[in-house]
Amino acid sequence: MYHLQRGDYIVSEQRGILYVVATPIGNLGDISMRAKEVLASVDLVAAEDTRHSRKLLTRLGLEKKLISLHEHNEIARIPKIIQLLDAGDCVALISDAGTPLLSDPGYRLLKAVREQGLRAVPIPGPSALTAALSIAGLPTDRFVFEGFLPAKSAARTTHLKTLLAEPRTMVFYEAPHRLQKVLDDMAQILGGDRLACLARELTKKYETVYHGSLDELAARAKRESDMGRGELVIVISGADGAVTTRAQDVSALLNELLTELPPARAARIASRVSGLPRREVYALATRLAGKK
Ligand code: SAM
Repeated sequence: MYHLQRGDYIVSEQRGILYVVATPIGNLGDISMRAKEVLASVDLVAAEDTRHSRKLLTRLGLEKKLISLHEHNEIARIPKIIQLLDAGDCVALISDAGTPLLSDPGYRLLKAVREQGLRAVPIPGPSALTAALSIAGLPTDRFVFEGFLPAKSAARTTHLKTLLAEPRTMVFYEAPHRLQKVLDDMAQILGGDRLACLARELTKKYETVYHGSLDELAARAKRESDMGRGELVIVISGADGAVTTRAQDVSALLNELLTELPPARAARIASRVSGLPRREVYALATRLAGKK
C-alpha cells in the first residue's frame, strides 16, 4: 500500500513502479535476493543491451519481456515507459553491469518519472564505484565521483587541472587502452607523489588491485601490460591541505597580478611566490584572465 502526497502529485498504488536494479559487475553471485525477486515480478525489463541482459536473466532462470534503453534511444523510450507505469505496469531498469545511472543511461528516464509524480524504487547492489572505494585504503569520508575523463588529451588535461586543489578522494572510471596516457597525465598534473589505487577486473577471475603513488602506478603500467587489461577504476587521494590552501592563495594573488600584468608574467611571479609549478599556475592564470 503506497499513498503519498509529493508536491502537486499524488503517488498511488494504482500506478506502476520503476525499479532501478543493480546487477553484478562481474560475479553473478553478487546479485541480491531482492534484485532477483523484483526482476522476476516486473512486467518489463528495460536494459542497455538486451542480448547481454537476456543472458543474465537466463542464468537467473527468468524469462522476461525486454526492451532496450541505451544512451541513443533513452529519450525516445520515455513516453512508452511512462505510459506503462501510468497504466499500472511495473518496470525494472538495469544496465550492462552495476548500478544504472552511474556512468550508465537512466537519468533522463528518472527525471521524467519524478516529473510525472511516479514512484522509483532503488534495488541497491554492486557498483564498481563503491567496490573500488571500499578497498582503496584512501579516505572515504568525502569523495567525488568523476566518471570517465574526456578521451581527448587536451580536454583531459584541462579537466584534471580543475581538480588540482580538490581535497576529496577522487574516483575515475577508465578505458584500458587509455590507461598509460591517463596515469601519465594524472601524475604530471595532480603530482606524481599523490597516493592512488587502481582496481582492475573487480569480482572477476583476474581481479588485481595496485596501490602506490601516481608516479609508481604510471611506471608500473609501462612495465606490466596486464595492468591495462579489463575494466578499471582509478581512485586518487585528494589534495592535502597545503596544496588546497596554496591553490586558493595563488588564485587570489593571480587575480591581483592580472590587473597589471599579462598572464605569463603574472604566472611567473605567482609560481615563485607559491612554489606551485609554473605550468599549472600559467594554466590557472589564462583561465582567470579569460574571465576578466
Ligand atoms: N554502472 C556501472 C557501475 O555501477 O559501476 C559502471 C558502468 S560504466 C559504463 C563501466 C565502467 O565501470 C568500466 O569502464 C570500468 O571503469 C568500471 N567497471 C565496471 N565493472 C568493473 C569491474 N568489474 N572492475 C573494475 N571496474 C569496473
